[in-house]
Amino acid sequence: MIYFVESFYSFQGEGKYAGYPSVFLRFGGCNLECKGFLSKSISPKDKSILIGCDSIRAVNREHFSHLWEKIDSSKLLIEKIEDLIPKNCKPDIVITGGEPLLYYKETALIETLKYFLNKKYRITIETNATIFIDFEKYPIYKDIVFALSVKLSNSKEPYQKRVNKKAIESITKNVKDYFFKFVLDEEFIKSKKAEKEIKDIIINCNNPTIFCMPLGSCAKEIEKNAPMVAEFCIKNCYCYMDRLHIRLWNNKEKR
Ligand code: SF4
Repeated sequence: MIYFVESFYSFQGEGKYAGYPSVFLRFGGCNLECKGFLSKSISPKDKSILIGCDSIRAVNREHFSHLWEKIDSSKLLIEKIEDLIPKNCKPDIVITGGEPLLYYKETALIETLKYFLNKKYRITIETNATIFIDFEKYPIYKDIVFALSVKLSNSKEPYQKRVNKKAIESITKNVKDYFFKFVLDEEFIKSKKAEKEIKDIIINCNNPTIFCMPLGSCAKEIEKNAPMVAEFCIKNCYCYMDRLHIRLWNNKEKR
């Protein structure tokens, strides 16, 4: 069974395929909380202020249960995607969350991936890369693009919880395409932790593509952090990545 939260058509705002028209499927549930990202949301349940990441509606079931739908059939997932594909358009398909790999063994997800891969769609899974995938048992994941958003200490998650090197190594060795994306802010860069932590995470990867993006859940915060992230990227030979959806729509839902 999968907890489905929302689906929408927009364009990809981050990473290697930023700017590409994409249909997003967002699943609920995450094994992290990332309270360090300090994104504030108002609970629809009791109006309290919730602190966490900018996808908190897909992390906190207690306060957003009205959005969470139980799904156990690929037919339904396929319909949710197909209903959003515009005529004469072949958008990317992006599976996001929460942490979508919580469901990587689910038949409904595997059948959905098979269906769209057979039709030659590019599918990206956005993951925090903490869940180990058995690629021999589930070879379908070899044909998926992995956006590895491994969390750094500015997420305020403990190292043992946010970094699983065995999982990262297995993904980077098995999949056809992957890239890393890291969220940075001014203070974190100044503390020199960013450089050290990224190097530790990518240590066993062969020439990985690394994107760094400014922390922020609104255009103003992105603007504040962007110049230092850009300098950091130039210095370390990483790719700078903006967050187009936040610049344009201030993290509006379904955008
Ligand atoms: S891993 Fe991603 S979805 Fe989960 S809490 Fe952290 S930022 Fe949010």
